[in-house]
Amino acid sequence: MNKKYVIAFDQGTTSTRTIVFDDKGQIKAIAQKELTQHYPQSGWVEHDPLEIYNDQLETFNQALSESGIKIEDIAAVGITNQRETTVVWDKETGEPIHNAIVWLDKRTSEICKELKQRGLSKYIQKNTGLVIDSYFSGTKLKWILEHVEGAQAKAEQGKLLFGTIDSWLIYKFTKGKKHVTDHTNASRTMIYNIKTLNWDKKLLEVLKIPESMLPKVQNSSSDFGSIDYKGIDIPIYGVAGDQQASLFGQGGFHSGIAKSTYGTGCFILLNTGEKQVRSKKGLLTTLTCSLDSESVNYALEGSIFAGGASIQWLRDRMQIIEKASDTEAICNSIPPLKKVYVVPAFAGLGAPHWDAKAKGSVYGMTLDTGKNELIKATVEALAYQTKDVINAMVKDSNEKIVTLKVDGGASANNYLMQFQSDLLNVDVDRPKMIEVTAFGAALLAGIKANIWNKNHVETIRKVDTVFSPKMDNKTRKQKYKGWKKAVKRTKRH
Ligand code: ADP
Repeated sequence: MNKKYVIAFDQGTTSTRTIVFDDKGQIKAIAQKELTQHYPQSGWVEHDPLEIYNDQLETFNQALSESGIKIEDIAAVGITNQRETTVVWDKETGEPIHNAIVWLDKRTSEICKELKQRGLSKYIQKNTGLVIDSYFSGTKLKWILEHVEGAQAKAEQGKLLFGTIDSWLIYKFTKGKKHVTDHTNASRTMIYNIKTLNWDKKLLEVLKIPESMLPKVQNSSSDFGSIDYKGIDIPIYGVAGDQQASLFGQGGFHSGIAKSTYGTGCFILLNTGEKQVRSKKGLLTTLTCSLDSESVNYALEGSIFAGGASIQWLRDRMQIIEKASDTEAICNSIPPLKKVYVVPAFAGLGAPHWDAKAKGSVYGMTLDTGKNELIKATVEALAYQTKDVINAMVKDSNEKIVTLKVDGGASANNYLMQFQSDLLNVDVDRPKMIEVTAFGAALLAGIKANIWNKNHVETIRKVDTVFSPKMDNKTRKQKYKGWKKAVKRTKRH
């Protein structure tokens, strides 16, 4: 077999990348371009969809030439992307009618407020798994139809198309032949019914979105069309939103497996199998990567606003560390903290506390609290917040967490990972391969191309370290009790 390379397109919020994997899952080349961020107004964030496409193509060319592989040797492409970001384009010309509205963009808060006032919260949670928020695509799409002149009418005449970034890239790379998406991306739009696996007619009516502009939803590992690259067809066989791709790349196929990505924010997903759990704690229910051979699985999702961002705060604002990685040695250099807690509610508190107005705080300081204690308490706060989310997931789902798989920049911190394992009382499993998200997309494509099957994750995903719990029960309970008290005092109600 000579078709032995799988390409991952990794289109993120701040950069666009192409990664070449060989059939052993080893990286042969990576090419990357930073993406321009547009902030037309406070709270608004946009990307240029054509820049995204051009960057993807450019990094593809660059990665191919760097790796030295032949185009004929590429088995398939897998795409992973920033989720929820919304593009609307003209069906005839293929031109976007507006910049992409990025997931972070808050311009549709008012539309969301109206939806809540109309009493749709329950319906939306039950059928889309989401809470009403400007984060998701549905209201962004409505905004574009309402604010671009003539757009609503054109959409109703079937002349406009909508897509998240995966759909947009596929449309461009297949020269307009395919208008498709996958279950994971569809499940972040707030207009897709995750129970029936169809676009939700009631919500489309409420938001005045014509169904004709929506992409066809496919399994994440399936045939999404072909890229005509210099006369050679390269199939696109994998598509998944970034967080679900990372869960898949971590081998999170079964219920009870959780993953946490420790980046600027932290994203935690727990696979709940075929059970669609409805959260009582404000967590989201979402679809995991789907394969042709299996029925869809669900996951609970929670995120932490200030993850690695609070380490950046120590560096850039407090200026008490030089670089993020210094924190590990500092944490190890002092004895266990005695009831000092930093609650980094810089952007309010997310799941399961939901207090948007909370502000950051420090508790339990005494005269012997110095900067090292502050640093250690800030690092530990990442683990406490993760435990809060995981506890909520366990309560909602009755699942027992078997293991926590970790990735992201701050997962490099051994002190933090050991503390996380101690607090949760489960094994924390960190892989050698840090490009888990891109690998997840490649794996989806490689499975459809018959290069790999799911079991290959075990051999490809080499474990770097498994951190096992060492803390005694009493200490664990005491520490967590102290944290909960600190959070309670931080909350405004
Ligand atoms: P993102 O993808 O969100 O940009 P990354 O996965 O690249 O984030 O992780 C970067 C974040 O991780 C930064 O916020 C940084 O402060 C934090 N970080 C990186 N290394 C460490 C470390 N050794 N200990 C603690 N935090 C770290």
